[in-house]
Amino acid sequence: MTTEVGHHHHHVSPKDLVSVEAHLADILVNIRPLPPTLLGITEAEGCVLAEDITASRPLPPFDNSAMDGYAVIAADVAGASKDRPVALRVSGEVAAGDTGAYAVTPGSSLRITTGAQLPGEADAVVPVEDTDGGLAQVKIRAAVEPGHAVRFSGGDARQGDVLLPRGTRLGPMQIAVLAASGHGRAEVYPRPRVVVVSTGDELTEPGQALTPGKIWDSNSFMLAAAAREAGCLAFRHGPVPDDPLKMLPAIEDQLLRADLLVTSGGVSMGGRHDVVKDTLGRLGTIQFRKVAMQPGMPQGFGTIGEDSTPIFTLPGNPVSAYVSFQVFVLAALGALQGQLDWRLPSVRATVTGPLRSPPGRRSFLRGVLNRAEGTVAPLSGQGSHQVATLGKANALIIIPEWVVHLKAGDDANVLCLP
Ligand code: AMP
Ligand code: MG
Repeated sequence: MTTEVGHHHHHVSPKDLVSVEAHLADILVNIRPLPPTLLGITEAEGCVLAEDITASRPLPPFDNSAMDGYAVIAADVAGASKDRPVALRVSGEVAAGDTGAYAVTPGSSLRITTGAQLPGEADAVVPVEDTDGGLAQVKIRAAVEPGHAVRFSGGDARQGDVLLPRGTRLGPMQIAVLAASGHGRAEVYPRPRVVVVSTGDELTEPGQALTPGKIWDSNSFMLAAAAREAGCLAFRHGPVPDDPLKMLPAIEDQLLRADLLVTSGGVSMGGRHDVVKDTLGRLGTIQFRKVAMQPGMPQGFGTIGEDSTPIFTLPGNPVSAYVSFQVFVLAALGALQGQLDWRLPSVRATVTGPLRSPPGRRSFLRGVLNRAEGTVAPLSGQGSHQVATLGKANALIIIPEWVVHLKAGDDANVLCLP
């Protein structure tokens, strides 16, 4: 890492702990955006735009009808009413997609469908509901102003307008804008390829029988799922044993297909089984730190391999790994896509029960947020190994560094989980 810890705001953290912000800042300065690439609309879905998308033509591109009805000259039907309908000759029909040179003349009309180009001379459309629906001749039962039921060229967007600024994530609505403005392709940041590797001698594949002393690996599935939820391509590597001779090759093998690596486990505060810390620590490009947070205190971040691929070594407890992902890895995935402000959305909410937090550390506690009520209910079972509570939470309640408890009725910032 290039930034010195000492340059950051020490006042929020006890000695030898790095603040959440300082750690995050050090991560972000070490991440370069991926090279943008031109992708077709479908492939670009879910990606972040690396260019502004502008309207190459006005939208809509031509004046057209907003309704099924009759294209008329408004002045011809100025006196029309239910009791005194105005009769117009119908000289034909113009449908959506027709390219012929249609026009109405005074005293005549054209049947028209929604989206059809407004014929020459016509300046309004009478909806079919306000007529008798006649074929050769039509009785118009309502007067219309010029422009009635007409969608004017440029009424949606003018030529040259920025429709989607660079940095926009392409969800279904943005994909519609891209397509509707005629862009078959767009310059986007590719989806980051994230490889997740779990470590630990105790880990067993879910679905297989447990032998005494073992647990099922959940982190690798969870972190891969979280990366996918964040718009990435995620690959999971099954558990690597706590053996330095196996760990380094396993991780190096993954560099080929990774824009970012995430490991879990093996980074605690000094056991001799902290194999990730021992093995990767020797490379000298990854820094292991204690961050002033709970859960998630032991954190490692750096770069690895020829391409200086960013690597996160997250703590092994599932809740610690999950919180670390949402607080740090998510921001890094944004940075890979040129976005430095990717964070989970947060809201203020009133806690419905008491909460405790250690002094000097920012706590992220699982809760159930009720947005309509503006309340958040803390869940019981806040231990960082307690996966059951993870399955019930939709939010993380934040308790600031020097606040040690909250009581029912206090307000807190709450991270909304995706
Ligand atoms: P470690 O960080 O390796 O010391 O692990 C801390 C705790 O997290 C231990 O109880 C581990 O068994 C547990 N743990 C580590 N990796 C995983 C994993 N992939 N899935 C579930 N639990 C894990
Ligand atoms: Mg371990």
